[in-house]
Amino acid sequence: MTYRGRFAPSPTGQLHFGSLVAALGSWLCARHAGGEWLVRVEDIDPPREVAGSAAGILAALPAFGLVADGPTLFQSTRTAAYAAAIEQLRAANALFPCWCSRSELARGDGLHRDARCVASPQADQPPAWRLRAPDLDIAFEDALQGQQRQNLRNEVGDYVLRRADGLYSYQLACVVDDAFQGITEVVRGLDLLDSTPRQIWLQRCLGLPTPAYRHLPLVLDGDGSKLSKSAQAFPVDPADPVPALRRALAFLQLPLPHAGRGGVDDLLLHALAHFDPARLPHCSGHSVA
Ligand code: GLU
Repeated sequence: MTYRGRFAPSPTGQLHFGSLVAALGSWLCARHAGGEWLVRVEDIDPPREVAGSAAGILAALPAFGLVADGPTLFQSTRTAAYAAAIEQLRAANALFPCWCSRSELARGDGLHRDARCVASPQADQPPAWRLRAPDLDIAFEDALQGQQRQNLRNEVGDYVLRRADGLYSYQLACVVDDAFQGITEVVRGLDLLDSTPRQIWLQRCLGLPTPAYRHLPLVLDGDGSKLSKSAQAFPVDPADPVPALRRALAFLQLPLPHAGRGGVDDLLLHALAHFDPARLPHCSGHSVA
């Protein structure tokens, strides 16, 4: 089977140093495997979207030498596929409608369990649709983080796949599209390790294959929190890509040619020649910026 990886940014800001590391890590794994690398814009949440962000990210990637092997998939074009997945799950009685508000859930431990809606059904308000979380340990081997295990019922609870406002959840869209794009390995930031059991369970419910997973360390800011696009943290300059690319390669512990030597393509070729996915760092660290 051909290796196929992807970078799946949400358009909530411009490409920043943390997302450059995720893009670069997934690109290196795909190139190293002689496979393909795709880009998917996860524009499923218009209220959180920042105007110009998708275009900015898509323009920045090639400036860093990260060129996709196929057209960009925009999740905003995929609602029919998400609706079909919801129908499939509803027909299998895996979903239930839920009118619970966040504050109602917060009165307990914040988790929704046993497919029991705390709120009473409200005929005049559309419900959210939740997937019943099984009392089951979902285990998987992450290529960098090792063996993982999570009990969905106890640690996550019944999770929303379609919100009351009609928008589809990240978990659903991600699972449907990883399968649609034929992704064989998901390489992404460590902050999503915790979502993976939810995605694996959803794959099983929908009869979709489970890809391999490799969760990269996060770039932390001075306070030890994750750099996030929404915090406008550490923007990178596509007009002057070499400094940020060198820092991103160093963060992934790849050797660099001597300072001042090499453009973007030389840096990437040099990194690929020394790249071994098993030797990527697995602990989060501070940006060397
Ligand atoms: N869209 C998510 C983000 O920007 C990443 C999703 C994924 O890689 O599965 O954080």
